[in-house]
Amino acid sequence: MTDEKTAADAVAPDGDAAATPAAVAMFDLESIQDHANWERNGDLPSKGGHDDRCLLCNRPLTGGAKAMVHMSNGNELFPASYNNWEDPESQGCFSVGAGCVRKVPAAYRLSGAP
Ligand SMILES: [Zn+2]
Repeated sequence: MTDEKTAADAVAPDGDAAATPAAVAMFDLESIQDHANWERNGDLPSKGGHDDRCLLCNRPLTGGAKAMVHMSNGNELFPASYNNWEDPESQGCFSVGAGCVRKVPAAYRLSGAP
């Protein structure tokens, strides 16, 4: 099986990364983030050496990430099928915890981190 995460096809001939195609359906992250509890959750201590926090609620990921998502500079999620990590709008891969994973539509959950 070939690695689907190659971005070579999306790089323009001049070497610059290609912009996000208009056809890519982005998902508004803002709409599912828990802003009301964000600051309070940020005070919760992390345990067991896991410093990573949930992208949706800012809780420490003591049990590890339940899913990964691909976030843009515009606080939106790329669909999991869009694997151009060289996109200039890409901020990379972020963790979502078990308590929030159901808020992320399945098409936007990554099966594996790059
Ligand atoms: Zn969460």
